[in-house]
Amino acid sequence: MATLSSATIQTIQRAINQQRLMETAIALVGVPSPTCSAGAVADRLAAILTDDGFTVERPVADWPEAPAVVVRFQSGKPGRTLQFDGHLDTVHLPFVPPRVEDGIFYGSGASDMKGGIAAFVEALRVLRETDSLPGGGSLLTAHDHHEGPWGDRRQVYAFMRDGIVGDAVLLPEYLADRLPVAGRGMAIFEVRITRDGEPVHEVLRPAGIADVVKTGTTLVNRLYELGEQLKSVTAPYVGSDSTFVGRIQAGEIYNQSPTLCTVNGTRRWVTPGQGKAIQAEFEQVVQALARETNTQISVDYHIQGEAWQLDQTQPIVTAFQDAYSAITGAPLALGAKPFVDDGSSYITTGGIPAITHGPDAKGAHTLNEAVPVAELVRVAQVYALTAIGFCGG
Ligand SMILES: [Zn+2]
Repeated sequence: MATLSSATIQTIQRAINQQRLMETAIALVGVPSPTCSAGAVADRLAAILTDDGFTVERPVADWPEAPAVVVRFQSGKPGRTLQFDGHLDTVHLPFVPPRVEDGIFYGSGASDMKGGIAAFVEALRVLRETDSLPGGGSLLTAHDHHEGPWGDRRQVYAFMRDGIVGDAVLLPEYLADRLPVAGRGMAIFEVRITRDGEPVHEVLRPAGIADVVKTGTTLVNRLYELGEQLKSVTAPYVGSDSTFVGRIQAGEIYNQSPTLCTVNGTRRWVTPGQGKAIQAEFEQVVQALARETNTQISVDYHIQGEAWQLDQTQPIVTAFQDAYSAITGAPLALGAKPFVDDGSSYITTGGIPAITHGPDAKGAHTLNEAVPVAELVRVAQVYALTAIGFCGG
C-alpha cells in the first residue's frame, strides 16, 4: 500500500468544504427521525446526494417505512471498496433543532450521528471532485433501526444478507480517542425463581417449603463467585470476562414468604465466538440451583453482541492510521470499543473489518448533543484519505 503523498494530503485538506459540510449536517438534523421513523430524513439525504449528481439507490432493506440510502461511487479502476455506513435515526427524546454557536454544532443527532454522516457525504464529494481515488470505490450506506430498544438493526443485517457491503467499513460513531480493535460480548439476563403454592405468613409456612428469596441471594453469590474466577479470562485492550447483578426483587412485606424472586444483570466475555457456550454454562448454574432448592427457575437471556477482535494486519487499519497521522501528526492509540455498535455487527456477523471513528462529540443520547465543527471537518479529511489509501491498495 502506497503511503499518502503530501500533495494528496494537501489536496484533500483544501477540498473539504466546511460550509457545504455544515449545510448538509444542518439539513439532516432539521428533520426529526426517532428510531423506526427515519423515512423523511432518508428522503432528505437522498435528495441532497441526487442534487450533488450522485446516483442514489433506495433498497428497502427490510424496513419499508424508511428505505435505506445507498450510493456506489466507482473510480473505474480495479481496487477495494470502502463502505461509509451510518444510522440516520436518533434516540426517542424531544426534538432539538439544529444550530451552530461559537464553532459548536447542536441538535438532535448532531453527535449521534448526523454530523458524522454529513462528514461522509463531504468526503465522498471531495473524492469525486479531486478524482483522487487511485482505484476501487466508495459505498455510502445510511439507514434506520439502529438505536435500541426501539430498533433491531435489521437494515444493517439486510445489507450483509444482500451483499450491500464493502471490503471494509468506516462508521462515524462518536469515538475519537482510540482506534477500537476489540470489544467484549454482552448478554442481558432476567432469572425468575418461583416455588409451588401461594404467598404465606412466615409462621404458617408448611415444613420444607422452598424459599425464593434465599435462592435468589444464593444465585447472586454464585454469580459473583463465578465473576471472581472469570477475572483470569482476559484479552488485550478489553479486560476480562465478568458477571454483574443490577437488580434483585422479591416480596411484598417483611413476614410473608413470597413465590417469586427475579434477578437481573449482565454477562460479558472477551473471547470471540463464545456467546452460545457461555449461555449454556449460565443455564447450567441456574438449573443446578433449581434442583438444590426445590424451586423452578426460568431464564430470559439475550445476547446483545458477540465478542470480537479486529485483525490489526488488515489493510483498513494501515490505511486509517496513515490518514489519521496525515491529519493529526501521529497514529491513533489502540483501545477497546466501550459500546456495541453496527461496526461490531459487521465484524461478528459479516466478517467484514470495521473501524468506528467519529468526531470528538458530546452528549449522545441526551438533549445536549454538541460537536465541534472543526471535528466534523477533521473526520471528513480522515475519511477521504482513508478511502484513498485503502481503495487503491
Ligand atoms: Zn450512534
